[in-house]
Amino acid sequence: MPQTLDVLVIGSGILSATVAVMLKQVDPTLQLQLVEAATELACEASDSVNNAGTGHAGLCELSYTPQRSADGRVPVERAIQIFEQFEYSKQFWCELVVQGVLGDPREFVHPVPHMCFLTGQDGVSFLRARHEAMIEHHFFSSMQWTADPITIQSWAPLVIEGRAEEPIGMTRGWGTEINYGQLAKQMCHWLSQQDGCGLMLGWRVGRLRRVSQGWEAELRCIVSGETRRCVAQRVFVGAGGGSLPLLQATGLPEFRGLAGFPIAGQWLVCDAPDLTSRHHTKVYGATPISAPSLGAGHLDSRRLNGSPQLMFGPFASWTTRFLKQTGHWSDLPRSLRLNNLAALLRAGIHNRDLVSYLIAQALQSHEQRMQALREFYPRAQAENWRLVDAGIRVQTIKRTDGGTIYFGTEVVSSHDRSLAAVLGASPGASVAVSIAQEILRRNWSYLLAATAGQRNMKRLLPTYDQDLKLVQNRDLFTRVNRASADVLGLTPP
Ligand SMILES: Cc1cc2nc3c(=O)[nH]c(=O)nc-3n(C[C@H](O)[C@H](O)[C@H](O)COP(=O)(O)OP(=O)(O)OC[C@H]3O[C@@H](n4cnc5c(N)ncnc54)[C@H](O)[C@@H]3O)c2cc1C
Repeated sequence: MPQTLDVLVIGSGILSATVAVMLKQVDPTLQLQLVEAATELACEASDSVNNAGTGHAGLCELSYTPQRSADGRVPVERAIQIFEQFEYSKQFWCELVVQGVLGDPREFVHPVPHMCFLTGQDGVSFLRARHEAMIEHHFFSSMQWTADPITIQSWAPLVIEGRAEEPIGMTRGWGTEINYGQLAKQMCHWLSQQDGCGLMLGWRVGRLRRVSQGWEAELRCIVSGETRRCVAQRVFVGAGGGSLPLLQATGLPEFRGLAGFPIAGQWLVCDAPDLTSRHHTKVYGATPISAPSLGAGHLDSRRLNGSPQLMFGPFASWTTRFLKQTGHWSDLPRSLRLNNLAALLRAGIHNRDLVSYLIAQALQSHEQRMQALREFYPRAQAENWRLVDAGIRVQTIKRTDGGTIYFGTEVVSSHDRSLAAVLGASPGASVAVSIAQEILRRNWSYLLAATAGQRNMKRLLPTYDQDLKLVQNRDLFTRVNRASADVLGLTPP
């Protein structure tokens, strides 16, 4: 390890891997060290079984288009924004495949229909209005709509079979399933082979202290207990659930009052070949009213470890750990401070519906979970499904915001821009490239000000300085969208 690093990156999940690779691509001379607490790369939230693998692009997530406005229209701006951010992810992965940083795209991405469905007269009318609003934009112009049970039978037979006669509407657009863990691993391997880069597995970063050259980090080997120190000019904290304790350890006033609230996820999983062979889509449903931001339930076909599976969820469960692999039950209590207790309590009081929802979720029996599944797949049989733990999201609570819980992905930064961190969860993995870009703009702006930095960024993200949302950029969008689909193999079968 050199005396003073240019960059210390903490964590090996999709966000750290993306930030680190983007930095090294923009400035190949950077001396960069990536430190991971676990003995395996990307085994927390980014690992394929710990998340749903959805390439969030606004196609099927009703939480991005939650309700009609007064004139009866459904505002779709948030869905458009997420779609555009996901386009940047595809552009980035495309360039990395071309360069050989990433291997065969089939190892980490494949096309899959993204659908959503609602039932009942009101639900169907809402979904139709949402579809009408969405297809007006060039991002969603090919999205299909149906209220015809025969068409639904051909799109998603498990969803319609055995369903009582009731109005049902469904939309379908082509999206992706992504193995974010695989992506992160491949990027970390590439980094470890670059001049000036190092990768330390099984080393936990403890204290982070401001020193004259930048930041001093205390590292502890989780196997031998050996400790080391390293100094870096700048730090990126992409430690997922481990980010909050690290920010607290900096002692910086800008992070005072931050609190975290962990919510563990669970899936119902089915491997029965006669079912996995009949469902090849991601089907999202209505978002729970008391917890809209936790997202809707969805019935997904997945390819985990090479074999097809069906996955339904997520269900929420109670935990005090911030990390699934290397966390400890004491994570939540140890994060409590005099300066964040009030914010945490206020969040509980302001979000009583959410608290009740979480308690009810945690107390569910297998049969109750099956009932939730039968809203998507009426003929589901309990013996075909088993409960599996998913990842943990640590939702962010800020002292200044009167009890608001942040469900999105939050980028925070020290005032002097020498340290950046990501807190929160969804849609984090899908939009990791946009997040990394924002972090480079904020915290490494000097790299992008240089001609070489700009040129390298433009190679990674050909449209990074343009707005694909604009009608006048429709043709440009079509061109770059096709180019990434060709390289990543995303043309629908
Ligand atoms: C149930 C569930 C479903 C989801 N579904 C989707 C989805 O469908 N699509 C989507 O885009 N997103 C989804 N997400 C969100 C997505 O998984 C996360 O946003 C993303 O994986 C976060 O990546 P990360 O790199 O920030 O964190 P992580 O992948 O958690 O990586 C953090 C790493 O930091 C390491 N670390 C922690 N503390 C330290 C320390 N002190 N020192 C060194 N290393 C440390 C950890 O061991 C870990 O490897 C889902 C999340 C959950 C929980």
